[in-house]
Amino acid sequence: MPQDWSVKWRDFAEQDQQAGDLAGELADCPPERFTEPIDTLAVAAAAALATEAVPRVLENDWSLYTPQQAAVVTATLFSQLTASARALEALTGTLDRMAQRRDLEPQVTGSPQKDSGTAAHTRLRAAATEIRELLDRHAGSCISAVDDIPSTLVLPADEHHLLEAVTPLLGESAALRAGECDAALGICRCHVEFTCASESWELVRIDEMWEIVRLDGAELGPDGGLTHSSLDRPSWVCLGVQEAAAHPRQLAETALREAAAATAVIPPQHD
Ligand SMILES: [Zn+2]
Repeated sequence: MPQDWSVKWRDFAEQDQQAGDLAGELADCPPERFTEPIDTLAVAAAAALATEAVPRVLENDWSLYTPQQAAVVTATLFSQLTASARALEALTGTLDRMAQRRDLEPQVTGSPQKDSGTAAHTRLRAAATEIRELLDRHAGSCISAVDDIPSTLVLPADEHHLLEAVTPLLGESAALRAGECDAALGICRCHVEFTCASESWELVRIDEMWEIVRLDGAELGPDGGLTHSSLDRPSWVCLGVQEAAAHPRQLAETALREAAAATAVIPPQHD
């Protein structure tokens, strides 16, 4: 009896809005919504495109934080193979129905009554069988081996703890500046001031994204935010890090890299 590898990741997919949005329409694949060849081809192509994206996102330095997250991804990969084996076998039924409709040349497929013996059927079933044998040999042991790797990582509990953890990683001159902060209410308006290439920046969380804001040339606006009179250099950079409790080294490395890149921007020449 093949194991259902999806158990390991399905909870995550249901909890995570992004995964839910990406997969929601296809997750249950109600047959009444996908009834025509163009639907079938679109679903199959979408699945292939989504699968191709996985190795690309894994190449990112910070794609995953822990072996346990890696085990979830491992389970998704074996679930994809499980689904591929089922789809290869389902294609034999699809060909049967074409033959029953007498839409196939008998010399190509053989007698409609003996479709299971055709070369296409045999090859599809052989491929599905090999995938299942591969799953039996490797899936369970692979997922367990990855899942069992102990992680020493302790992520910060919230954004304030992340700011505390990231401050020493932003250089000797970095300093945590306290603002309105109440962990019970989920409020933290603290920020970290740091220096990169002789320019001063602050690391702050705005609209649920981590950003760096240039302090040189900045003035306090009427709403308490910083405004910049000179626009010849980026006054702020969104770091593309969303998690309130991201990996401190990820946040520090990204902040320093983006600050250096923003400093290196050559101002436009004004005649
Ligand atoms: Zn705080």
